[in-house]
Amino acid sequence: MKLLGKTAIVTGGSRGIGKAIAIKLAEQGANIVVNYSSSPESANEVIRMIEAIGRQGIAIKADVSNPSEVEELISIAEAKFSSIDILINNAGITRDTLLMKMKEDDWDSVITTNLKGTFNCTKAVTKKMIRQRSGKIVSVASVIGIVGNAGQANYAASKAGIIGFTKSIAKELGSRNINVNAVAPGYIQTDMTDKLSAEVKEGLMAGIPLKRLGAPEDVANIVVFLCTEEASYITGQVFNVDGGMVM
Ligand code: NAP
Repeated sequence: MKLLGKTAIVTGGSRGIGKAIAIKLAEQGANIVVNYSSSPESANEVIRMIEAIGRQGIAIKADVSNPSEVEELISIAEAKFSSIDILINNAGITRDTLLMKMKEDDWDSVITTNLKGTFNCTKAVTKKMIRQRSGKIVSVASVIGIVGNAGQANYAASKAGIIGFTKSIAKELGSRNINVNAVAPGYIQTDMTDKLSAEVKEGLMAGIPLKRLGAPEDVANIVVFLCTEEASYITGQVFNVDGGMVM
């Protein structure tokens, strides 16, 4: 086990990609804080799975876009586990529509959850990691933040923002022994993509050289690697996990 005794916070750890990351980090020995915003049953199910692996877990409700809820999340986590070694900025939403139909609220909610949420959580844990002189931060961006997508201007902007944020923070925190990286998934099978129309799904599949959708575990595998000491010389990078969709 490569993460024995470490504590990881996974935002949006109740479902989909975040859930897979939480389980795989626990399999490597980490204790896990599973953050969620609206589905306690799913979050508690993840905690049961973590406990079945033999690790400790705690589910904490907090809206990542709200700085005071994030501060509260971090202090509950610290009180329970004393150190915070790993932060996974995974919580994210979509509000897809073409620009001409996009309402201010569609823009604000996606930017605030995805990008400001990443800022809020990173800022809150960074204080502790600087004191510890170690830490791993991995944010879940998207290939859409690299290549854009019609109907997803808000989402693409939020994910491109995460990429710029990741590189900047990696430069700020490198001297403090804190690694900051991002992953950019392509088309991964979760609740988020289940709601796409059959036509959109077919179009996406046509652009994937490996000819299959990704599984949440495909993303989790590289996230876990980035949290280990084996990845200690990697920072400020963005890794596509997309079956070759963007190259
Ligand atoms: P998902 O199945 O819809 O799960 C989203 C998770 O985020 C849930 O745990 C949800 O909590 C949580 N969440 C949403 N808003 C939140 C908030 N304000 N505060 C705290 N938690 C919040 O999504 P997913 O497909 O696993 O996506 C996870 C991440 O990967 C997102 O950042 C997404 O943009 C990114 N991504 C996904 C794909 C894909 O193809 N699926 C591709 C590229 C990138 P509740 O359960 O409480 O609602």
